[in-house]
Amino acid sequence: MENVIKEILEAKEMRSKERLKISEGGDISISLSINIPGAPKSDNQIKLFFAECLSDLKRFLLSHRIVIDVKREVVQSDAAGDFYLVPVHSEDIFAEEIKEITELFEMEHSLGRLLDVDITDGNGNPVSSGKAKNCYFCEQHPAVYCMRKQTHDYSEMRSIIEKDVINFLSERRKNRVCKDLSVFALKALLHEVSLSPKPGLVDRFSNGSHSDMDYSTFLNSSAVLSVYFREIADFGFSFSFAHIKDALPKLRQIGLQMEEDMFSETRGVNTHKGAIFLLGFSLFVSANQIKNHNFSYLSFVNQIKELNGSLVENELGKKLYGSKKTHGEECFEKFGAKGKGIRGEIQSGLPCVFNYAIPVLSSHFDLMETETDAAIQEGLTQTLLILIAYNNDSNILYRKGEKVLDELMVVSQQAFNVFGTNTFDAKYKQLIEYCSENQISPGGSADLLAVAYFIYMVNKKYN
Ligand SMILES: [Zn+2]
Repeated sequence: MENVIKEILEAKEMRSKERLKISEGGDISISLSINIPGAPKSDNQIKLFFAECLSDLKRFLLSHRIVIDVKREVVQSDAAGDFYLVPVHSEDIFAEEIKEITELFEMEHSLGRLLDVDITDGNGNPVSSGKAKNCYFCEQHPAVYCMRKQTHDYSEMRSIIEKDVINFLSERRKNRVCKDLSVFALKALLHEVSLSPKPGLVDRFSNGSHSDMDYSTFLNSSAVLSVYFREIADFGFSFSFAHIKDALPKLRQIGLQMEEDMFSETRGVNTHKGAIFLLGFSLFVSANQIKNHNFSYLSFVNQIKELNGSLVENELGKKLYGSKKTHGEECFEKFGAKGKGIRGEIQSGLPCVFNYAIPVLSSHFDLMETETDAAIQEGLTQTLLILIAYNNDSNILYRKGEKVLDELMVVSQQAFNVFGTNTFDAKYKQLIEYCSENQISPGGSADLLAVAYFIYMVNKKYN
């Protein structure tokens, strides 16, 4: 123990010398350290916590227009714990002003009372505001008082800090994960619609087989939906009930709200109903998975199945929506298994996505660090092709019947098979013409493309 104390004192001595060096040049110094009672002063959790707080502090200083001399900053971890020190040129600002601002930082930060931001002026004197910080543990006495009197049990203090730090870090992780997932979902929608040319579908340059919507309609609709992605991800991350199906009513509520907003933005045109359904479930499940573990395709599929068990039977087998049958219901009645559509796909755990789309996405993007527009075009075109080739798109089935759908799938397979050869362009053109002649649009496959790309991005980052 004596040795430890000696090392801590030595480390503190070194810090004073570093501060002195800065003040000898006439500059002010700002330091950050964490108040950890006893020893060791740091571990892996605390290091992560320190790194988060340091980023927060730097952002705070910049937002208050305090310019630190980053070239001379010191970040170190020694017996006294994690430590940061940086000079600020004293001709720019008074040390007392910096003190006021860093006190505000400590006050506003959720664990600010664990943090020590110390200011030393250009003459080497510590700057104090005279305000005593309250004790972290009892919040009643000044911190110095409890420390001197040793009011609190040492191991209790350590365990309170540990718990608070863990909660802080998991809240930060939640924010990061949910932010990432929302970004992936929007990226998926934007890249899907921007992929050009596409057979029968709306793209950058053509409305495909549609007369009621264009590229802008999709951009606007994507913008409206993006507002909800974060909400679904947050819900998925926080969700912990006995059974995952308990999440369905809330998920449906968000989904219905998204549909309403989409229709109001597009003036009644259905741009993304399928995508809302697929991305909604996928966002929820991804967040829920990443909360506890890393992401894996297998557990994603299992959870999607668990969430949507008997969906087809429950929603297509009985009339949910009054006397008028939906397209989905009619299609299921007429074509049976082939007409299960998007509900069938999700109930079976997205087989088209995992058997066909993901392997193609992997082969294009696994080794790629930054994806250029051309690379995305290429990868997504091939993925779309394999989806059209194997997905029983119930939109086409409903509107044009089995023969047209089967032909479309054959033409797509042919194009897929020659991908990357000189005959590809001709085959792809043939597919586009086939869609145009028959006035069909493989919208179901486009939705699957978006959700596959989303799931792929999640896996690439969080597997
Ligand atoms: Zn106390």
